[in-house]
This record gives sequence, C-alpha cells and structure tokens, in this order.
Amino acid sequence: HIDTVPTAGHFDGVLGVLAGIEVVRVLHENGVRLEHAIETIVFTDEESTVIGCKAMAGNTVSNPEYYRRSDGTSIETCLAQIGGDWSTIAEAKRHPKEIAAFVELHVEQGGVLESTGDEIGVVQGIVGQYRLGVTVTGRPNHAGSTPMHARKDALVAASQMVLAVNKLGVETPGEQVATVGYLTVWPNATNTVPGKVEFKIDLRDLSQTNLEQLLIQMKLEFQAIASATKTEIEITQLLHVDPTLAAPKIQKAIVGVCQELGLSYTHLISRAGHDAQEIGRFTDMGMIFVASKGGISHAEDEYTSPEQCTQGANALLQTFLKLDILYAKGDR
Ligand SMILES: [Zn+2]
Repeated sequence: HIDTVPTAGHFDGVLGVLAGIEVVRVLHENGVRLEHAIETIVFTDEESTVIGCKAMAGNTVSNPEYYRRSDGTSIETCLAQIGGDWSTIAEAKRHPKEIAAFVELHVEQGGVLESTGDEIGVVQGIVGQYRLGVTVTGRPNHAGSTPMHARKDALVAASQMVLAVNKLGVETPGEQVATVGYLTVWPNATNTVPGKVEFKIDLRDLSQTNLEQLLIQMKLEFQAIASATKTEIEITQLLHVDPTLAAPKIQKAIVGVCQELGLSYTHLISRAGHDAQEIGRFTDMGMIFVASKGGISHAEDEYTSPEQCTQGANALLQTFLKLDILYAKGDR
C-alpha cells in the first residue's frame, strides 16, 4: 500500500510496492518467464478501512456510509475521482484459484529483528484482535459526606479491572498483548465519588483459542471485581478480527531463500495489521519483514537502510521464483 498515516515515514507500505515493481522489472530484464502470471498490487487505504484488500477478498462493507470520509466526502465521489465506480466494487473480488500465493515485503514496525540482529523476518502470521468497550456503573456521591463503606466507586472498580487486564497479558502463557488505552470518568470532579467509567480494551494474539480463553477469564475477573465493589458492568464487543496464519509452505520457501542468499532470519509474529491479513483469508499468504530502526514506525524518523531494503527485495524475488516452481508442481 502507498497510503500512510498523517505522521508517517517513507517505508511503511511503499517498500512492498516498490520491491514488487522491481521484482517484475528484474524478471522482465532477464527474460525470465514464470509458470504463473505475476501481479504487483497497490492496495488502497490500508491504514484505515482496508477497502482495497477487502474488495479483492470480497469482504467490503456493503453500506457506502461506512466509507464516508471525515470531511463528508462519499466513497462514490472518492472512487469516481480516481476513475473507479462504487457500484462495480463487487467485481474486484478475486477467486482463490486466480491467486496461487501472495507475498508482501514490509518493514517490521517493531524491534524484534533489531534485537535478534537478524536480517529477514519470516512472518508466521498476523495477530487477531478484539476491542471491547466496558462501562462500569457505580453511584456518584459527595466525596466528603459519603463514608468509605457506603460507596459504589466506579473508578475504584475500573482501576482494578485495568490492572486485571494487564496481569492477564503479563501472566498468561503465550504471546498475547492486552491494553487499556482509553478511559473516561464521570462526572470527573475532584469532590465527587465517580459514578461511571468507560474504558476500552485492545487484545491481540496469533492464537484465536488463546484470545477466547483470555476473554472468558477477563469477564470472570470483571464480574468478581464488580460484585466486590458493588458496581455494575456492561461489556460490548467493538471489533473482532480473526488472526491470519502465513502458509507454512511460503514460510518454508522464505527460509530456504534466506539460507541460499546467506541472510540471517528469524520467525516472528506481526502485531500490526496488513493487507496480507485479508488476502490470507482466501489464498496462501506470506510476509517478509526487514528491520525498522529502533522499532519505530508511523513516525517521520521511521528508517530501514538501503542495504536492508535490498536484502528484503532480493528475498522477495527469490521467494517468487521458488514458489513458482512449487505451485506449478500442484504441490499446494
Ligand atoms: Zn503498512
């Protein structure tokens, strides 16, 4: 993808597109004819609605209102401006048989490669995610005249829940991450016992089973906290995205390529979303990561050296050559 967030650097997304174009150019210059057709794709709006890859997967939201821009412009208008047509969006859907495999080169946007000192990250999959909204209702009351034992303090309850979320993230065996990054307090007045708190939980892992277990455990703990604090809780699921596993066959091909090119590699999980997440729902998907300096991305100082970009692009090219042979054998 070549769209970015407002504070973006020069590598997130665009590296994969440029490397894809370069792969095709190198094949062309060297007169290499593959067994399969090869396409370089520029996905639209990866950073927000992921409408590009979702359209290819046939998973766009049918109500165009969902895609209306914050300035009020409709998706119909936006698409028309670039020569598209919203009414034909369904035609963008690709059949699994049309695409044998999809491989994307991307910057890691994390610090794993830098910490292991490896050149290439072989992505095992892209984490699934739950976002939950929690409302804790207590009883607003005077902070001076309400005795401690008579309080229904929503913030005291919510605080314990925030700690419970963190504890689950830290102590559960596995690679999950659990965050409360949003919290509001009512009436948010110094002299009033808080009557209501809303907070949001972000929970991610590559294992859907583990995610479901964490949710069950979390709800049990919240209920215990609510009853101990004489508060009430309401939990709403705001978002659920299934994890997408990279095809083992593609991971193996990338590993083979690294060994042949003498590039050091490690397997890792992508904790950020990617277009590959949608594409991987209908065909074999793989991703190659190169290091992000300081693990920084979505910031202007995002950096991957020219040498690292070249290593990634070479790995991408060789992976396609390998997969072309593997998939031509019908060995899916
Ligand atoms: Zn990206």
